[in-house]
Amino acid sequence: MKVQLYAVCLGKEWEWRLTIHSQTDIQYWFEQYAADAGLVLFEPFISLGQGVRLLERLKGERSFEFETDVGSTLQRFRLIAKECEIPNGNDSDMKMIRYAIWRQGMSPRIPLNATVYAKIVEACSGRSLLIEEFQQLLEAAGIDLHPEDAWLSYLQLGHLNGDLEVGNGLGIVERRDWRKGFRKMWTYRCKRCGSGEKRMFWSDCLHCGQACPYCEECLTMGRSRFCSCLFLGGRRK
Ligand SMILES: [Zn+2]
Ligand SMILES: [Zn+2]
Repeated sequence: MKVQLYAVCLGKEWEWRLTIHSQTDIQYWFEQYAADAGLVLFEPFISLGQGVRLLERLKGERSFEFETDVGSTLQRFRLIAKECEIPNGNDSDMKMIRYAIWRQGMSPRIPLNATVYAKIVEACSGRSLLIEEFQQLLEAAGIDLHPEDAWLSYLQLGHLNGDLEVGNGLGIVERRDWRKGFRKMWTYRCKRCGSGEKRMFWSDCLHCGQACPYCEECLTMGRSRFCSCLFLGGRRK
């Protein structure tokens, strides 16, 4: 799955976020905070796994000055993207999203139904699900969504509300290996079954268009990839 990173400002500080459906986020912030919300959306779309990694890194950085110095902000972002090994990180671009323009109806409103939303949150509660499992669950619960990709928007809304947590299938751990001259190494761990590096298998991935690891240990439950969406139902603590 591909995602986008963005930063939102509701006062002084900018906060980094990740989205699987940016229109949902834009609507969410502007409907609540109107012109008080500042939004900066980054392109291009990146693999969910890399998005999670880049987001963690950005959260640990000193704050960005989006309003005052666009040029050096973008440069700094590109540098961090490159360090996180984001393909084409150097070509990243950013776009300010303005409330006034959004209000004029430049982007279509997403019709989100509160009853459907509540049903989805309830059905997912306490579960850890890949998208395929989620779609089976919707079917079993008799939840019929229109248009067909509306589930992306509902999942993202759940994430924004803290009713569920959108993440990726594999976690990444950074360490330095003394046997390799303390070079930075990354190892992967399955977020679903907890398996480590030994059970990871690399293959060219159709979903993110690059070499991408998945967990062999829990393969019978569906492929948990670095780029696949694995989300947890239930309120975030
Ligand atoms: Zn696993
Ligand atoms: Zn992939």
